[in-house]
Amino acid sequence: MYTLPSLTAQKSVRSIAILTSGGDAPGMNPAIRGVVRAALHQGIEVFGINRGYSGLISDDMAPMSSSSVSNIVQRGGTILKSDRCEAFKKPDVRASAAEILRARGIDALVVIGGDGSLTGAHLLQQETGIEVIGLPGTIDNDIFGTDDTIGFDTAVNTALEAIDRIRDTASSHERHFLVEVMGRASGFIAIHVGMAAGAEMILVPERAIEIERISEELAAARRAGTGSSGIIVVAEGPEPGLTYRLAQQLKEHGQDPRVCILGHIQRGGSPTGHDRVLATCMGAMAVSYLGAGYSDIMVGVRDGQILDVPLEDIIRFRKGLDPTLLELALQVHR
Ligand code: ATP
Repeated sequence: MYTLPSLTAQKSVRSIAILTSGGDAPGMNPAIRGVVRAALHQGIEVFGINRGYSGLISDDMAPMSSSSVSNIVQRGGTILKSDRCEAFKKPDVRASAAEILRARGIDALVVIGGDGSLTGAHLLQQETGIEVIGLPGTIDNDIFGTDDTIGFDTAVNTALEAIDRIRDTASSHERHFLVEVMGRASGFIAIHVGMAAGAEMILVPERAIEIERISEELAAARRAGTGSSGIIVVAEGPEPGLTYRLAQQLKEHGQDPRVCILGHIQRGGSPTGHDRVLATCMGAMAVSYLGAGYSDIMVGVRDGQILDVPLEDIIRFRKGLDPTLLELALQVHR
């Protein structure tokens, strides 16, 4: 369970809006539920905006009631739908979005999404004065200032379940499988999935991939009778097709691995208990932060403590994999 900050109500908030943006993440629904229920409890009206910033700039929103969020805590995806909206990157479009919110008498906007979505929220606040609170909703866990993001735990567990199945086939056919998980810039998912799945190797963007070494190790394990099959977890990396290229290179070195790309399977599915609790706490705290006069912040969690992180910091700083964790994982999984 989390330790929550003690906040004092300072400000009268009458009406807020909420949207989900960027790639969907399991746990967005419990986060929406947390915001809506906490706001209604405090007498605050809530508008649900459909399809992220696209819905905001086209004024596609409707009031939400307690029953709008009934029976959604266990559902993956987002009942508000999500989108990527290039137009929102333009200042004049953000100015008209602020006018739409003002015309409806909406005091503040809660944005659930990844670092791109939170960048949009920060710019909206800076340029127009609309109060914003962000929630980290992304399976990637790559947002600065928070140990955890809504959806990460579910994505890791989903990948894990898939790998446990792939291992049966790998073992029966005495093969190695390269299993690609999400992670363009970082190996957060790969390290966690690889450790939990007992992968033979984990390949992440933070470390150069040495084909000859990998091939030699696979061959040595086969000769020693200790590794006729196994799982190599690969973070997708910045350029598409990495895992197929690796498989081809390993073939050229005498190996014959199979490839399995988990892809969008990792995004869907019912959120884990962990993600439901995290999302609910963060959602309800977003409303408390607004009432306490905070704005232009993201609700994060560090060492089990829910806290506020300036959105500016999220944009300015990059979250890296803990080098000690990386070292430890690579000691155990090569
Ligand atoms: P994820 O990485 O988990 O998919 P994300 O929120 O980082 O989530 P993006 O595609 O980067 O996903 O951003 C989602 C949306 O946020 C964009 O389509 C755009 O509407 C808005 N956005 C992103 N970057 C900016 C920016 N620099 N300025 C304004 N809006 C932005």
